[in-house]
Order: sequence, then C-alpha cells, then structure tokens
Amino acid sequence: MLPLLLMACAEIEPGSPADDPNTHVLVIGAGMAGLTAARSLHEAGVRVTVIEARDRIGGRTATFDVGPAAVDLGAAWLHGVRGNPVADFADAHGLTYVPDETRWSTLYDEASGQALGDGGWEVMDEAYSGFVSALEDLKERLGPEATTADARDAYLNEQDLSERDRRLAQHAVDQWAVELSYAGPVEEVGLAYFWDEPELRGGDQLPTGGYRTIVDALAEGLDIRLERVVTEVQHDADGVTIVAGGETFEGTHALVTVPVGVLRAGSIQFDPPLSEAKTDALSRLDVGNLEKVVLVFEERWWDGSVEFVDRDASGVFPEHYDLSDLTGAPTLVCLYGGGFSREVQGTWTDEELIAGVLETLAAATGKTPPTPSYTAVTRWTSDPFALGSYVFLPPGATPDDIEAVAAPEGDRLLFAGEGTERDYYGNVHAAVMSGLREAHRLGVNKIVVPGWERW
Ligand SMILES: Cc1cc2nc3c(=O)[nH]c(=O)nc-3n(C[C@H](O)[C@H](O)[C@H](O)COP(=O)(O)OP(=O)(O)OC[C@H]3O[C@@H](n4cnc5c(N)ncnc54)[C@H](O)[C@@H]3O)c2cc1C
Repeated sequence: MLPLLLMACAEIEPGSPADDPNTHVLVIGAGMAGLTAARSLHEAGVRVTVIEARDRIGGRTATFDVGPAAVDLGAAWLHGVRGNPVADFADAHGLTYVPDETRWSTLYDEASGQALGDGGWEVMDEAYSGFVSALEDLKERLGPEATTADARDAYLNEQDLSERDRRLAQHAVDQWAVELSYAGPVEEVGLAYFWDEPELRGGDQLPTGGYRTIVDALAEGLDIRLERVVTEVQHDADGVTIVAGGETFEGTHALVTVPVGVLRAGSIQFDPPLSEAKTDALSRLDVGNLEKVVLVFEERWWDGSVEFVDRDASGVFPEHYDLSDLTGAPTLVCLYGGGFSREVQGTWTDEELIAGVLETLAAATGKTPPTPSYTAVTRWTSDPFALGSYVFLPPGATPDDIEAVAAPEGDRLLFAGEGTERDYYGNVHAAVMSGLREAHRLGVNKIVVPGWERW
C-alpha cells in the first residue's frame, strides 16, 4: 500500500489567475510585501518573477554588519507578535525574537544641563499616557484639520506644569507618541486618524540576528532579479510589460510594491497613467523620515540607553538605544525623525551627523566618548528606492486614501506595500499583510507557506 502523504495544498479559486497555468506575475520590489506575495504565489504553483532595483533584498528591512555588530538600519522591531504574520512566519521557520528589554539609564535635560532621575521619567510617562488617553476628546474638540502639534498644545495647556516639566512633557508627546512612531513632523501629522490602528499584543520584540533572518527565509526558492530599476510599466487586457534597466519583462500581471514615496515621485511611468483616484490619494498622503546613526565601539563606555531632551524639545537626536546585548558588540543606535530629521537630511554630512550624536552623548553621560570603531548613517529620506521611512496621514488624508493606493488598476496591475494597508500602515506586518492580501486577490484562497495557513 502506498504511504498516505499529508501535504498542505493551496486552495485555488477556480477560474482565477492563480488557476491559470499561463499566469506569470511580475512582482516589482523585493521588500517584505513583494517577497510575501511572491512566496505565497510560488508555493501555490504560480509562476513569479521578482524585479528589484537594489543589489539586495529586504527593502526597508536592512540588516547590515557594522563591524562585528549585525544592526537593523531599517525596521528593527516586531510591534506585537499575536495576530502578527511576521511572528507567525518566524515561529514556523524556527526563527526567534526576544522581548525588547531596553534599560533606559539616562534622561538628560539640555536646558537645565542636568541628568534627571525617576521624577523626570514620571513626568514624561504621565504626559505620554495622558495625551494618548485624551486623544478621542481632542479629536472631537479640534476637528478634522488639526495636527498632532495642535493636540499636544491643547493638551499641555490644560496641565499645570513647571517650565521644565512642560519641556519634558512636550518631548514625550512629540517624540514618543508622534515623531519616533509615525516618523512625520508633529506639525504635519494629522490628528483625525492618529493612534487609530489596532494594537497587536505581545510587546515589542527584536528578531535574533536581525530582520535579514526572516527576509532570507522568505526569499527561499524565489526567482529574484536584482539591480533592475523599473522605469516603465505598461498594462492592458493582454498582459503587462515592464522595462527595467534596459531589460523588458513580459507577464500576465504586475504587482507593484514600491514605497508610496517612490509612487509619489513619479519615477515609474505607467501606461495607461495611474487613475486620478490613485494619484489624488497619493498626493494627500505623506511619508515620514525616521533615520538612524549607528555607533559601534571597542568598549561599552556608557551605561544603558540614553534619552536626550534638547533645549527646545525639538527632537535633536532624542534616543540612543544600547543594543550591545542583541548585537554582541558595544553598540549604540540613535533614532531621530520628524522635523529635526527633515531639517538636517539635505544639509548635514554623515560626519556631521555622527559628531552631533557624539556631542549629545557626551553631554548626557558627562563622559568624552571614544572614537567609534565602526559607524553607519541611514538616508532613507533621500534613498531613491525608499524616499522616506513610511507613510503617515497629514490633515485631509484618510485611511480611504490608503485603500485607493491599494486598489488594482484594470485587471492586471495590482499594488501592495506598507502604505497600502489601511489598518497597520507604517509597519513590517502591514507590508506582509498587504502581500498576503494580493496573493488572495489573484486567487490563492488558502496560503500554504508555513505559518500563514490561517491568513
Ligand atoms: C528607519 C526605519 C525604521 C523602521 N522601524 C520599523 C520597526 O521597528 N518595525 C516595523 O514594523 N516597521 C518599521 N519600519 C517600517 C518598515 O520597514 C516598512 O513598513 C516595511 O519594511 C515596508 O516593506 P514594503 O515591502 O512595503 O516596502 P520596501 O521594503 O520599501 O520594499 C519595496 C522594494 O521596492 C524596491 N524598489 C523601489 N523602487 C523600485 C524600482 N523603481 N524598481 C524596482 N524596485 C524598486 C525597493 O528597493 C524595495 O526593495 C521602519 C522603517 C524605517 C525606514
């Protein structure tokens, strides 16, 4: 008797593109959205080719060796692991992640020139959670055109705070709630839909070995063409033609996963042009500018992570994560975004950014930092294949705009990517959810990639 083979089998919608043996999907972009869709289709028996501009896969997840330290220069955290397809994939592939147990040892207030103790942290924690709890009321009072800066002012004006505490409270709201999470300037992030996304449970976790462990596992077995910059996409009832670096690719469908910043810049020519509904939506959305400066030292000369509140609470190099335990080498990663990031991106050199971070650390720790052995400076904002960190909604934009970016154009042109995921935009799990969504749209009813059977 033949042994009974229990193999997961993709369920395909009869008559769908996935059901047609001639289907060939060209996926533009080998970030998490593109790889997710490609892998889901590939495992379902659909022919897929991934076309990627860079010489590497992963897009805005980018684990690089900064000397001996493997550091995530793009996404670093899984924001919640329950109901998160990234965690489900990692679990099913034996990839691990660890809770973020960052120890914040130093809170430095530049205006008073003092390192503050528990009292300072308490003021900030209270301001942050008080602001978040007041959001529903603030939205109602301030109306649809308000920004998060309007809401912050309205909220802080009602608190009875000393000058110092107001500065700390503003830093907590501006940095923790807005610029380091939504990445856009506090004066430009809209209030109406701010903080609306459902929270995934399980806390922030950091993948062991960095995001590349997940990216590499996801890309296994796929046909990926690197260093092909797509400049033209033509589509009609017969199929799609893509021009990338002088090479032409023909397929039956194209799935565009390039970032919203790239779509907004118009560096890909679509024929026929993108619909007005999509271009209007793209013009209402905006993209933030979270960036990192990584410093790797010979020795761990500091003690724990550092929060820096600059003189005007304007977000100058606000957070320095001590990631030494994760990377296995003495590593500090400075995160900055929002208005300060916009201000310095075009004008400060890498050397100036590194010097700025070192100065901040010197003030905060009261020690002269040694010269770092290895450094890395990100430039997602000007990177032509990212043009920003991730999407945010300015006043006037709504989640419907995100859906409009996600909508297919005709029968053969589809869209995915973090900026197309209505509920979770801005995250890796949004990118993955969008890739799964488009695999379903092409007719894969049940996905058989381990970990995603229930997605
Ligand atoms: C600094 C930073 C920190 C972040 N931190 C976190 C975090 O901790 N947790 C989290 O969940 N999310 C975080 N994010 C967001 C997260 O990285 C993104 O949401 C996610 O990686 C986006 O995936 P994607 O597939 O939609 O886009 P991408 O990863 O950008 O993939 C799109 C791909 O398209 C390619 N491409 C672009 N133009 C072309 C072209 N013309 N031709 C061919 N290919 C092209 C790009 O090179 C890229 O590979 C962070 C982002 C940044 C920048």
